[in-house]
Order: sequence, then structure tokens, then C-alpha cells
Amino acid sequence: MQFRDLVKQYNVLKPEIDKAMIDTAASGGYIMGKAVKELEASLAEYVGVKHCISCANGTDALTLALKAWNIGPGDAVFVPDFTFFASAEVISLEGATPVFVDVDTDTFNMDTHSLKVAIEKTREEGKLTPKVIITVDLFGLPANYVEIRKIADKNNLLILEDGAQGFGGELNGKRACSFGDISTTSFFPAKPLGCYGDGGAVFTDNSEWAAIIDSLRVHGKGSFKYDNVRIGVNSRLDTLQAAILLVKFDAFKKYEVADINKAAVLYTKKLSGVVKTPIIPEGYYSSWAQYTITLENREQRDELQTFLKEHGIPTMVYYPKPMHEQTAYKDLNYPVGSCPTTENLCGTVLSLPIHPYIEESDIELVCGKIKEFFGKA
Ligand SMILES: *Cc1c(COP(=O)(O)O)cnc(C)c1O
Repeated sequence: MQFRDLVKQYNVLKPEIDKAMIDTAASGGYIMGKAVKELEASLAEYVGVKHCISCANGTDALTLALKAWNIGPGDAVFVPDFTFFASAEVISLEGATPVFVDVDTDTFNMDTHSLKVAIEKTREEGKLTPKVIITVDLFGLPANYVEIRKIADKNNLLILEDGAQGFGGELNGKRACSFGDISTTSFFPAKPLGCYGDGGAVFTDNSEWAAIIDSLRVHGKGSFKYDNVRIGVNSRLDTLQAAILLVKFDAFKKYEVADINKAAVLYTKKLSGVVKTPIIPEGYYSSWAQYTITLENREQRDELQTFLKEHGIPTMVYYPKPMHEQTAYKDLNYPVGSCPTTENLCGTVLSLPIHPYIEESDIELVCGKIKEFFGKA
């Protein structure tokens, strides 16, 4: 069994993907070719925003947004303590300071009370200027944008939605990557919509920021590539990846998001009463980047993971370490207990195999083994 079976997906889509790759090779337009513009237009339409600017990866997408807003030294950027390292790394790379915010134990997303406390504390200390909230749509579930938007408005902060895992998710009928003042996603192969290498995109309704980001991704170009009006980076999406994504995006829209939701519903049905299953609050729809259960303690989690591995079932721990405990952030001196929910989750979460092409029998096998572990078979 595969944790996320990308080869199975390729085998289903093979004729179209092979054609897309060969057509790109024959076209000669390897950089910013036709497929790039076509993909950007259809991604923007799907998400429901005016502008989509593709780029080299999801980390660059976040960086481009922070650069467009001139975030730098002396600025505070609020970010969940429970996320992939890149969500915070980009803040430090721009010279700003991440302020880690605890998460909600049910949704795994930024806890709004902790966010308010963190903003207040930062203001009281007076060393940093609060500027941006980076929200993360962890494991495919949009963050609590109803509350976070209110907090952002009240405190005059911008929202940068890190939708690397959230693409395809929804909140109250609106799609992920439309909730931030700027939003981003990643096309890393294992993300909900993945390509065959690295790729990413930035989304916004703001035409001025879109133009700056379009310039920044090509060396700060002005009217053309050799007219440089600002210091930028080289961060384009390859035409080849865009061509592959156009094929995969079709399948994503037609059935993949629906099918992975069916898989998640089946997991939850079979595991309820056995372990704590993921909670999708009213009005939310997940694209299931991960299906993550929560165990009672670290010992039980680790034993279950070993047991499943012995039976050929791959699982992952996303994430084993809170951001504030990362060695790279030891100078920020967060004491133990700074983000208690994150600290607890890191010791108790376990992500199970899930993807749009998983068989019912695989889910039954995984759930059967979990029940066997708990003596409930
Ligand atoms: C994967 C990921 C990123 C980074 O995306 P890359 O394309 O790998 O650079 C950023 N944030 C989150 C939450 C992610 O999961």
C-alpha cells in the first residue's frame, strides 16, 4: 500500500499526460509557454479571484507575497505553531520575525483566541510592528476565516493564506486560496493538486499587488525582461509542469476532490468510536491533503504506527515538532508550554494513507488493523 499513490494516478491519466509532455517538448516554448497562461486563467476562475500568478514552488509563492508587501526587519508576522516549516521560514528570510500562534485541537488550524493574545502581547512589548497573519489551511481544511478576518480588520493586519495543502477546500461556498488578501498554493507532487516536480501559485484580487508579483518572479522586470525596476527573483513555473497540471486539474475538478472526500467519509465511519477522527465543522469542506487521527498519548501513537508498519501500512507524523521547538528558532527562546495544544498534537497525531484513487478494501484493511490494535476487531 502507498501513502499517496501518485503512480496510480499517472496510470489513469497516462494518455493525456504523455501527450501534454510530448507536445510541450515539440513546442519549444519551455519557459512561460502557452500552458502557463492557460493554467493561470483556469486556476483563477476556479478559485474565484481576479489574478493567479504561477511560480516555482509554494515557498516562493509566500515569499513573493511578503516581498510585494515590503515585509522586513521589525515586522511581526503571526503564523501557526503547527505547520510545515516553510510557513514560518519565509518570514525569517525576509528579515521579519515570526510570532507563533497555538492551534485548535479539533481543526488543527490557527486558534483565534491565541491569535488575539499574541497580537496584544506583541503590541504591549512594543519591539515589533504587527503586519501580517499567515493562516495555514492545514491538511486540506480552510482556517477559520470568519473570525480571523474580523481580527485582521480590527488590528489593521493583512492576511496571507498559505493554501499549500488547502487547494480544493471550501468555507461557506467560497474556495480556498480566495480568503487571503493574498493567497498561495503549492504544486509539490503530494499536495492536493500536484505536478511532477516543484510548482506554486499566488492568488489575489488586488491588481497592483498582482503586477508587482508578476514583476518580482522575473527578476523585477519592468516593461520587459531586460528592463529591471526592482530586485526580484527567478521563480517561474515551467511550461512542462503547467501542461501536466492542466490535465491533472481537469481530473481534480471532475472527480478527485469528490472521491477523496468519499474515502475520508468511509475512514470516519469505520473509525468512529475507536480513535479521534478529523472534525470538519459546519460550512467547511476539506480537500484532504491528509487524513489525521489523534491518539491518547505519544506511546500509544508510536506503538500504533509501528504495528501498522509491521502490517505493510505506511503512516506519517505531520508534524513531529512545534515550530517554536525547531533548532532554527532556538534564539527566539520560546519556553516549553508556549503553545500547549501544538505540543500535545505533535506527540499524538498520525496521518493515514489517503488519495483519490485509494480502494475501499485498502481503507477497510487499515481500519481493521487499527481496530485489531485496540482489541476491538
Ligand atoms: C508544502 C508546503 C509549503 C511549501 O510548498 P513547496 O512547494 O514545497 O515550496 C508551504 N506551506 C505548507 C503548509 C506546505 O504544506
